[in-house]
Amino acid sequence: MAAIGLSHLSKRFDHTVKGEVYAVHDVSLNVAEGELLTLLGPSGCGKSTTLRMIAGFEEPDEGTITIGGSDVTRALPNQRGIGFVFQNYALFPHLTIFENVAYGLRVQGKAEADIARAVSEVLALVGLANYERQQPHQLSGGEQQRVALARAVVFRPRVLLFDEPLSNLDAKLRVEMREEIRSLQKRIGITTVYVTHDQEEAMAISDRIAVMDRGQAVQQGTAHDLYYRPVSEFVARFIGRANLVDGKVLSAGEVEIEGVRVALAAGRAAGQSVRLVIRPEMIEIAAAGGPGRIARRTFLGEKTDYVVELGGSRLQVAATDHYRRPAMDAGQAVSVRFHPEGIRVL
Ligand code: ADP
Ligand code: MG
Repeated sequence: MAAIGLSHLSKRFDHTVKGEVYAVHDVSLNVAEGELLTLLGPSGCGKSTTLRMIAGFEEPDEGTITIGGSDVTRALPNQRGIGFVFQNYALFPHLTIFENVAYGLRVQGKAEADIARAVSEVLALVGLANYERQQPHQLSGGEQQRVALARAVVFRPRVLLFDEPLSNLDAKLRVEMREEIRSLQKRIGITTVYVTHDQEEAMAISDRIAVMDRGQAVQQGTAHDLYYRPVSEFVARFIGRANLVDGKVLSAGEVEIEGVRVALAAGRAAGQSVRLVIRPEMIEIAAAGGPGRIARRTFLGEKTDYVVELGGSRLQVAATDHYRRPAMDAGQAVSVRFHPEGIRVL
């Protein structure tokens, strides 16, 4: 049984210019017990609206939502057993860590002894057992993140929901924080739906990712599935970097790309044209008389990125073996080899 189930979920809003538009359109997905599923997509694709419907902050126009097998489609937010972690994890700066975590329980009028027990339990769970009397400003960003999480899980929710919790942090802190969230989520083992527009963040923290485009969940899978088997150009471009090139099928086991032959079973008849997704690391170039030409080289330390012109295509190429090869400069003629493993036929 899925811990969270969305079935044919839709939500329309009145748009001043366009009239009624679907923010979310026929979204169906399941989240397994203990799983972290990320909704990933560009701004405006319906991620927050989907999350807010799970939380009960928005009511769907169509479809159903189950949590732990019960239909909660019309239930109030506080009846759903969810914890919601907001952007910036705004803590109360003048309250101690204990009081920050206890706040919601006090509002609910819980007994003092129960509050004390619940707060120490949850602080121990997130690795902040001796932090009760500290103030937020005495904590590192990572520790503050843990307090925010403690505040959400102190109610013992069945499900945690995160809406772009890291979007206002600088790049380095984002990486630290996402690892923090990931390890805490695993440790607690709580079913989680996480929203982000950042594909790298999604790949780093998720068990599975649902890619959204204009209100629809267009593909669901592991980061590995989405990277190697995207179902569309949209997904291919959104997850990682992609070359989208046309190839011509020569035979059952061979395709030609801009005059270069590749041993690839495209599953189409000879003479047909195929659209291919080729990741930058699947292309190898070497100093030779052509047929490619380097248009740009960018040294990035652990790899060198090249832009290579080949026929009418401009290819993004990533070389990770650059430290043991002579550098190739813009203008240099190069041979081009496509590694068929991992090339995706759309
Ligand atoms: P995301 O979180 O992926 O950026 P949202 O779910 O916030 O996207 O929004 C999806 C679409 O629905 C957008 O076009 C947005 O403008 C619209 N929308 C969201 N909330 C409202 C609202 N309360 N009223 C009108 N339109 C809304
Ligand atoms: Mg949003």
